[in-house]
Amino acid sequence: MSDQPPLSQATLAISAGRANSGNSLAPALWASSTWESGGLDDAHHRATAVRHGDFYSRYANPTVQQFEHAIAELEGAEAALAFGSGMGAIAATVLALCSTGSHIVAQRQLYAGTLAFLQGPCQRFGIDVTFVDVATPGAFSDAVIPGKTMLVIAESPSNPRLELADLDELGSIRGPLTLVDSTFSTPLGQQPLAYGVDLSLHSATKGIAGHNDATLGVIAGEQELIDEIWAYALLHGSTPSPFDALNALRGVRTLAVRTRQQNESARSLSVMLADHPACMAVHYPGLSEHPQHALASRQLLQYGTVLSFEVPDRAAAAKLMDSLAVARCATSLGGPETLICHPATSTHASLTLDEQAATGVTDGLVRVSVGLEETTDLLDDFEQALGEISG
Ligand SMILES: *Cc1c(COP(=O)(O)O)cnc(C)c1O
Repeated sequence: MSDQPPLSQATLAISAGRANSGNSLAPALWASSTWESGGLDDAHHRATAVRHGDFYSRYANPTVQQFEHAIAELEGAEAALAFGSGMGAIAATVLALCSTGSHIVAQRQLYAGTLAFLQGPCQRFGIDVTFVDVATPGAFSDAVIPGKTMLVIAESPSNPRLELADLDELGSIRGPLTLVDSTFSTPLGQQPLAYGVDLSLHSATKGIAGHNDATLGVIAGEQELIDEIWAYALLHGSTPSPFDALNALRGVRTLAVRTRQQNESARSLSVMLADHPACMAVHYPGLSEHPQHALASRQLLQYGTVLSFEVPDRAAAAKLMDSLAVARCATSLGGPETLICHPATSTHASLTLDEQAATGVTDGLVRVSVGLEETTDLLDDFEQALGEISG
């Protein structure tokens, strides 16, 4: 065995997370919220053990655990912990690790829910946040206050302009814990923990589950740290549904082929858009003209399934979105359908105009999550819709 080459991620995704289902190839759904114990000693053991799978579902659930094992394996982590949503993962992790008087360094270009959480509840609880520009070298480490900064939060590639945090730089920060929201990459697109980052976080609602039929979050890291976060998370109560974990584990099985196809279409679409006169700018790390293309090539295993681009203004964005026949207008990403959204009026609508400008959300910016339709059908669809706004 020892001289065999290590298995690829695509193969691991097929075999990962198979405990707790006997010989069944499909994961078993453990819908139970509670388990019978054999006497008081046994009950005491289950109640006080860390993440015991047969006690009470908010503590741990065998179906959810299978999903967690699969993600841990794909992330190269000792352990993973699932939550009821990506925001559940973010909120519980921050509150598990920070207290009144703590300081957080976070990038400005964040998922709007994460930004709202850091600016609202965190400030209310006396947790200070310094926002930095993700693409400025050294910005994260320069903002760390020794002894006070507990957590450094990055999101890479970022929403909606696909800017990258330098994982090498994040991984070399000592003192605070570092966390990367790796949702846009999935565990197959980048491996933050291999760079020394402490926690890799996903909204598994997106590419991991991959079919718009689950709402779920997950973090991966060292066992001790994950157990510490679990001890708080079971009180926070953002508990994952076993049914959603089952759907997400099914998504994991096909993650490699789905992202391969979506990456291929995203690349072709970005090249077509970059050449189109109605399109003023394209944001996709796989394009050689992307300002961080060299960094992208170093740290991304796949350039990604999401891109954004700019048309002249909001009216042009509206007309474009109306004219598309294959792509659908909806938020979210990573599913089978190609989705297009206008961040200024949807995902980033809760931000002030100044905040939108600071995160690069312009009036003419649209974000595309590339789906699984035939590439040529997608290119034709965008070509004809762009024709409507250039005419
Ligand atoms: C969707 C998303 C989240 C939040 O996840 P939910 O599952 O919707 O709670 C967090 N970060 C990123 C980058 C996302 O795309």
